[in-house]
Amino acid sequence: MNLRLPDLKVARTSHPGFAKPPSTRPVVAGGVAIGGDVPVIIAGPCTVESREQTLGIARAVRAAGATMLRGGAYKPRTSPYSFQGLGPEGLEILAEARAETGLPIVTEVLDPRLVERVGSVADVLQIGSRSMQNFPLLVEVGRFGKPVLLKRGFGATVEEWIHAAEYVALAGTLDILMCERGIRSFANGAYDRATLDLAAVHAVRQLTPFPIVVDPTHAAGDAELVPSLAAASLGMGAHALLIEVVLPGADRDRIRCDGRQGITPDVLREIVELAACHAPQGARSGRPFT
Ligand code: PEP
Ligand code: MN
Repeated sequence: MNLRLPDLKVARTSHPGFAKPPSTRPVVAGGVAIGGDVPVIIAGPCTVESREQTLGIARAVRAAGATMLRGGAYKPRTSPYSFQGLGPEGLEILAEARAETGLPIVTEVLDPRLVERVGSVADVLQIGSRSMQNFPLLVEVGRFGKPVLLKRGFGATVEEWIHAAEYVALAGTLDILMCERGIRSFANGAYDRATLDLAAVHAVRQLTPFPIVVDPTHAAGDAELVPSLAAASLGMGAHALLIEVVLPGADRDRIRCDGRQGITPDVLREIVELAACHAPQGARSGRPFT
């Protein structure tokens, strides 16, 4: 690997087991460990749109075997005229979904001023692709201390992404999940939404102690492509998948954010079953990672 990260001090050195060959430092969130022997499936709606929708999806993803729930109360939208999320009401709905299903919550925080509020409900604070280099936000979530899921900026190199993780680590938390979600390329839009950089899974495993999560949904942009990208991600050794789900029969045109790309719970169940057969510790490549 050509990439060298000479100025990293915290992320690379503070895990006692981190030496060559690199080992993964599992992250435990809401009682679920990510970075161990079996890939974790995190699933749920793109956006918390209503109590019924979120509780319905939460029940369905739990029944399908997912072990964490995702869903945005605060949404990073390209247009300021698009639905921005339910905000505090969305957080209450997520808290109710956790109380009912027992699934820990992964939800996005966009604003450094809202880290405490979102963090009072979240088990994992998601930093969205558009926020990856919002350095004050990275420092604030690092100080807060709950696990952080750090999405790769869609225009960011792996080096920039790992340096963003270093900001979080330096501010106080090593419980960082790196999340590949696709990058901009000349292919985008022709048959996907973003180009899923699967080799980055290997790079993160080699260069950091942090578990690597793949979000096949935002790379796909279409539900049909999600299962293949999910399977490929598991083949690369992803420690977890982050997947958007819609209820069967949902009117995709009426979903307020990312309606085309959510898979149905039956498809999710197939991915859960596939994941159960995978050992992220390099079994597929035949190379030990730990
Ligand atoms: C999301 O997870 O719904 C999301 C907004 O993702 P990203 O930041 O990767 O675009
Ligand atoms: Mn989304």
